[in-house]
Formats: sequence, C-alpha cells, structure tokens
Amino acid sequence: MNTFTIRKPDNPHGHLRLGFMMQRVLPFADRIFSRYVVMGNTFPRLIETGEDVDVYRRNIMACAMPGFCPVMSIMLTERTTSEILREAYDAGARYVKFIGKGVSTNSDEGISFFGLKKKYPVLREVEKICLDTKKEDMIFSVHPELNENSKGERIPYIYREEASLPFCRQLVEDFPGLKIIFEHLSTREMIEFVKSTPPNVAGTLTPMSAIVAYEEVCNEAGEVINPLKFFKPVAKRIDDMIAVRETMVSGNPKFFVIPDSAPHEMHKKQLHLLKGKKPAAGVFSDPVFMPLVTDIFFSEISDSELARQRLEDATSRFWAEFMRLPLNIETITLKREEWTVPFEYGGIPIFMGGQTLNWQVV
Ligand SMILES: [Zn+2]
Repeated sequence: MNTFTIRKPDNPHGHLRLGFMMQRVLPFADRIFSRYVVMGNTFPRLIETGEDVDVYRRNIMACAMPGFCPVMSIMLTERTTSEILREAYDAGARYVKFIGKGVSTNSDEGISFFGLKKKYPVLREVEKICLDTKKEDMIFSVHPELNENSKGERIPYIYREEASLPFCRQLVEDFPGLKIIFEHLSTREMIEFVKSTPPNVAGTLTPMSAIVAYEEVCNEAGEVINPLKFFKPVAKRIDDMIAVRETMVSGNPKFFVIPDSAPHEMHKKQLHLLKGKKPAAGVFSDPVFMPLVTDIFFSEISDSELARQRLEDATSRFWAEFMRLPLNIETITLKREEWTVPFEYGGIPIFMGGQTLNWQVV
C-alpha cells in the first residue's frame, strides 16, 4: 500500500504556546488535526480560569484557519477551587491538567502528587460532571511522573514514571466515576497498570517513546547530552520502547496515540547555546507525527489493510469514543515517499530534523 486515506486525526494532547510561537506552530496543527487538546502550561501565565480559557481560545482562533477546533484545558494549581473549575467548564474547558510541581515545562506553580489530596474537592466536581450524562465530559489529564521522593530527594529522570505509580493507583481507586487519562506512557509497567484499570481510565502513547532510546538522550550519570531528543517522560530502555510500540498498534481502545508536540526556541534546545542552563523538555513533533506513526504501524503489522485500520482507530476513533464525541468526517491522505525533515522552522527545531522519513501527508 503506497497511498491511503484515513479519517482525519484528533490531537488529544499538544502545546501551542502563545504569541509568535503559536503563530508559527499552528499551521502544522491546523493541517493535520481536526480537534486539538491545547495544554495550558503557557508562559508567562498559565491557563487557569474561565476567563483565561476565553482569551486563549480567541487568540488561537485569530491565528487558525476556520474549522480548527481547539479543546481547551486548565492547569490544576494551588489556586484552583471548585468554583474556578465550574466557571472554566462553562467557558468550554474540557480538560484539567495535572503536572506535578517542577516536573515539566512551566509547572512550578503546580502541586505535587503528595499534595493532591488537598485538591480532592475539585476532582469530585470534575467527577460529578463526568457522571452527569447530559453534560459533555471533563477529563482529568495526569502527567505521571514523580521528581522527588517524600524526603525531597531528586529522583533520576529514568525512574520518575514508575515512582508515580502508587499515586496513580490510588487516584483510580478514589475516583471510580472520574475520567482519567494518564499521559505519554513510556514504561511497560505503567502500560500494564493502565490496561488493568476500569473503562473510565485511558492512556496516551507518543511516537517519540517508541523510537528514541534513553542512551541517545542521557549519559550514564543521567545528564542530558542531546536536548533535541529530550522530552518528558525521558526516553526509556529497549524493553519499554517495545511495550510502547506493541500497545500502540494492538487495537486496544484504552490507548490513544498523541504527538505531545512541545515546541521550544533553538537556544533552549542546543547544548552549545545553553551555557550551563538546563535544556527545555519537549520536542516540536506535530510536523512529523503522522509520518512517524504510520511508519510504526506499517512496520509492526504486515497486513497493510489491518495496519491502516488500526492507525485510523488509534489516531481518530478511540479518543473520540472515550470523549463521547462524533467521529471526524474529513480525511487525510498519506503517501509512501521519502523526505528529509527540515532542521528547524522559524527558529524552532523540528523533531527528527535532518533525518529521512518514509511517509508524508499529501
Ligand atoms: Zn505535554
């Protein structure tokens, strides 16, 4: 199969940023995705309230093509109350995002897994919305990584996802009616956990975690040696990569394939420009998402019609069904033809820049 057409994908997790960055990255998102869940860890201000949601949506729509459909989110912080939550829902927010304090980009105002119980009243409110069949769902989206243990000691990148597992388990037990998505799973253990959960819980997988190995990103001391392949959770060992690939193509409706595109400017992503500062985590993956994912499905599944079907389900069906949203009616076409990914676009390094990919969006 050298050319095929599938239902247009949704993007259940991406970062469009603000200002000039948003203007540059939005056209890529616009072209490939129908609905786009926009994460709210923006700088200098997080998206936290109904008013923030309104303003951010207006900014996005001023730059996007008509028909682009952002799904808005708010960040869970110390300031989030049940009242703020309800206002944000009324303003159209459909995701509440939890990133533990200091775990990833712009999360310093977040709360840690250790403090999450304080926010249970807010989560009860989200659960109430999920249980009300007349209302559209609201998702509790969890970044499952723990950066410090209970004594405040730093946990190395590679162990952070597994370290969050007891908290994730507790959350699922405490909220049987809450729709929870554990994001960008990168370890076999976490994937097995999500497989064992009830139907109100799902997980997402990125192509990055399926193709980048830990050794390409970090040295033995755990320091980042290649910021261009640095995302969170950090790339893992081979057995975990295999688990991500196998699960992605398995046809299990609990798992959605996402780009988690997280653009940064060049000076935050190149060692010689960082001058001792820590590199930013996250890669600009929207432009290469469909070619990479298509390659994974067609290499893992030898029956090409089955590969096409599973690819369509994982990118455009499972998330929509979990959200109780209609499936997209538009389509996109992919063609097997080699191309070399440009190194950067408008000062933003593109993931896989300089490398040759086998598929492209027509
Ligand atoms: Zn993200």
